[in-house]
Amino acid sequence: MCLKLLPASLSSRVKALKVLAEPDLIRHHTRKWLLNSQSIGFVPTMGALHEGHLELVRQARKENDQVVVSIYVNPLQFGPQEDFSKYPRTLVADLALLEKEKVGLVFTPSDKEMYPEGFSTTVKVTGSLVKGLCAAYRPGHFDGVSTVVAKLLGAVYPTRLYLGQKDSQQAAMLRQMILDLDLGVETVICPIVREYDGLAMSSRNKRLTLEGRKIAPILYKALKVGKSVYELGEVETANVLSEIKKVIQEEKKVKLQYLEAVDSKTLAPVERIEKGTMLALAAFIDEVRLIDNIVI
Ligand code: AMP
Repeated sequence: MCLKLLPASLSSRVKALKVLAEPDLIRHHTRKWLLNSQSIGFVPTMGALHEGHLELVRQARKENDQVVVSIYVNPLQFGPQEDFSKYPRTLVADLALLEKEKVGLVFTPSDKEMYPEGFSTTVKVTGSLVKGLCAAYRPGHFDGVSTVVAKLLGAVYPTRLYLGQKDSQQAAMLRQMILDLDLGVETVICPIVREYDGLAMSSRNKRLTLEGRKIAPILYKALKVGKSVYELGEVETANVLSEIKKVIQEEKKVKLQYLEAVDSKTLAPVERIEKGTMLALAAFIDEVRLIDNIVI
């Protein structure tokens, strides 16, 4: 076990859990499993784990012989004005949660391991999947995600990759990357896990003020209003989106970044809402960027 990141008090508590920072060491374990015909489920994360992450882990457990989780806050996917330095980092608590879920191997690379001097490659998915939604507001973000996930897949070489529908554009983009590059990994997209009041779980929720946390469920409430308006017979996108906006505008602290209706497979904007349409939004509350979506 690589203990260089772990305080002594924790190392005794995580005996069953292997925590490794070097891609070569990860590969050593996973290649052995593959040679023994064991399947591997892989859950990449940026840590500050919550039930949303843990549901991915549980799904991976159900469907595979071995589970690998990575924890890495990837600098490449944050813009200069974004919250890289403020992103919550809770490694000790994360490892305790993963131990409880009986995860065997955790990959915790450092920036040096991921991007050593001389690193010169970017994996870039192009086309309609990375045009609208978050891509329009976070230039370079998805290149950072595809590059890091390509590297993680190279180290772990899993049978299945587990991603959350919460980051729907990310999941669609990664599935496309895996297909295009013939990486031979099955992509499994899991439903959004929510707090008791409907707020989509997110590591960033920890950064909300008490007041911000109180009003944040309005995002999901508004999306549900959009769905109800459609179910009552309104199919014009502009009208449905306008009803959603009305709800969000009730809370002055919410700064909507985008609200779109797109086809949930192609992510192309739609003029009329129908079954399979995804209503998706990003908004700032207390300068914390939250995203959510609902598929009709
Ligand atoms: P992150 O640590 O935010 O990069 O997320 C790691 C993975 O967990 C991604 O595939 C996310 O889509 C997924 N995830 C994050 N929050 C949730 C949630 N509330 N429900 C389901 N999956 C989630």
